[in-house]
Amino acid sequence: MQPSPKAIIIGAGIAGIATAIRLAVHGFTVDVFEKNDHPGGKLYEIKKNGFCFDSGPSVFVQPENIELLFELAGEDINQHLEFKKLDITCRYFYEDATVINAFADRKKLQQELYQKLNEPIHSIENYLDEARRIYDDIGKIFLNHSLHKKNGWRLSEIIQTLSSTRYRYLFSSLHAVNKKYFKNPKLVQLFDRFATYCGSNPYEAPGMLQLICHLELNLGSYYPKGGMMSVNRALFNLAIKKGARFHFNTGVEKIIVTNKKATGIISNQKKFLADVVISNVDVFCTYQNLLNDVAVATKFLKQERSSSALVFYWGISKSFPQLELHNIFFSKNYEEEFKYLFDKKLPYNDPTIYINITSKIEPGLHATGEKENWFVMANVPADINFSQPSTIQSYKQNILIKLSRILHSEIEPLIETEEILDPQKIETGTGSYGGALYGTCSNSRTAAFLRHSNFSKNINRLYFAGGSVHPGGGIPLCLKSAAITAEMIIQDRKKWKYEE
Ligand SMILES: Cc1cc2nc3c(=O)[nH]c(=O)nc-3n(C[C@H](O)[C@H](O)[C@H](O)COP(=O)(O)OP(=O)(O)OC[C@H]3O[C@@H](n4cnc5c(N)ncnc54)[C@H](O)[C@@H]3O)c2cc1C
Repeated sequence: MQPSPKAIIIGAGIAGIATAIRLAVHGFTVDVFEKNDHPGGKLYEIKKNGFCFDSGPSVFVQPENIELLFELAGEDINQHLEFKKLDITCRYFYEDATVINAFADRKKLQQELYQKLNEPIHSIENYLDEARRIYDDIGKIFLNHSLHKKNGWRLSEIIQTLSSTRYRYLFSSLHAVNKKYFKNPKLVQLFDRFATYCGSNPYEAPGMLQLICHLELNLGSYYPKGGMMSVNRALFNLAIKKGARFHFNTGVEKIIVTNKKATGIISNQKKFLADVVISNVDVFCTYQNLLNDVAVATKFLKQERSSSALVFYWGISKSFPQLELHNIFFSKNYEEEFKYLFDKKLPYNDPTIYINITSKIEPGLHATGEKENWFVMANVPADINFSQPSTIQSYKQNILIKLSRILHSEIEPLIETEEILDPQKIETGTGSYGGALYGTCSNSRTAAFLRHSNFSKNINRLYFAGGSVHPGGGIPLCLKSAAITAEMIIQDRKKWKYEE
């Protein structure tokens, strides 16, 4: 009997764990090396003074990516993870006191937008139907296949599909497309915001990104019971159950390459050999630190990074009935905000603020009594200079002023406890260069095609899975990345014996 092939995965981010599950189910011996003392990477939690916060992702769409993993592993997901569909996907606050509920139900959403923004019923209908069409035509193909393998969905076929679709999706910005659909600038701003789901600029990113809102507003947004941390826990436990071994506090120093083939890694100055190596670490850091290939790493730096974030985790001593699970407080001048974020790369004094409050859904679990756990986030450039204490303080003050004004309540005295996440901490904690949340951004027409492939073209048996490679960042795409990479390894393995 042939021995089972050995896989080493560097990093226990969500794509690292998902790749571990897939390979373990297919008979690989899987070892995951993680520099932190826990799995999850950006998807983790903070516990402080009786409050608990999801520290990274909070918007949860396409749970079928997770259902698929459990199905593949022959396990009943209901025994491991529960999630429910949200009635209101997000509540939007504007400076002139307009408040919009983005209802999951299409008719309710249309009514809301008609009553509050006088937006004709048909415009939202047309927009969301078109978002579905783009997702089905292009997204499904593009997001589920490698663009770079000959036996995958080939680039030429993608281009053919793109050219059959309307040019405006490639040659107009998302903002320009949205302006064509909606009369009311508030609604244009609301739909422009979906570009930030991949850390991009709606004034530059192609109209194609219209497909992002399909996931939230057509398919639905979900809340996993226990918060996002439950997703991490469920997948980690599944990986263990399927036999994957995790080595925490065990950072990888180097990928061993022999005769243009990855043959293992070095960690704590010890060699660990494998038949295949998968990096779940940011692709720039993989080349720079683990392969010592400064030339390729520098090439990647030329691609624009997605945005990073400043997050304030505030334990709030009061309940705010006017807030939902997901809340957005828009800036007055969205275009200017993005100029600061992507062109000037300077602090902006009126940032759009996102607040996530899981204690709204599970009172008592993440904050006691009437208290609330606020995850308060502003987008900032992927630049560790935004971690300077003076910059953080100036963002904090501007956020407090804005929230106190709109919520008619002084917020600062209500903060019982505080933690802060900034680009430097994201970089140090997860290895993402500059603290970028989603690897490179999608600000240009070609960005999606320039993302790193799921395999190395120069080093055999070296693969990549995670938010910095194809098809992109965010939990759904990271899980798709794991599926593409694992499937590629399983197929490539059939050829291994002929190579040797
Ligand atoms: C504040 C914030 C908000 C976000 N909001 C959302 C959201 O609402 N919805 C959404 O879908 N996504 C969101 N994201 C993005 C999402 O979290 C990421 O796209 C996703 O979690 C990235 O997963 P990954 O598998 O690429 O790995 P990562 O999470 O980047 O993990 C990589 C792992 O590799 C490890 N590592 C690095 N170097 C080494 C080494 N040398 N040796 C060993 N291990 C190493 C790191 O410690 C880490 O555990 C958010 C992210 C952040 C930070």
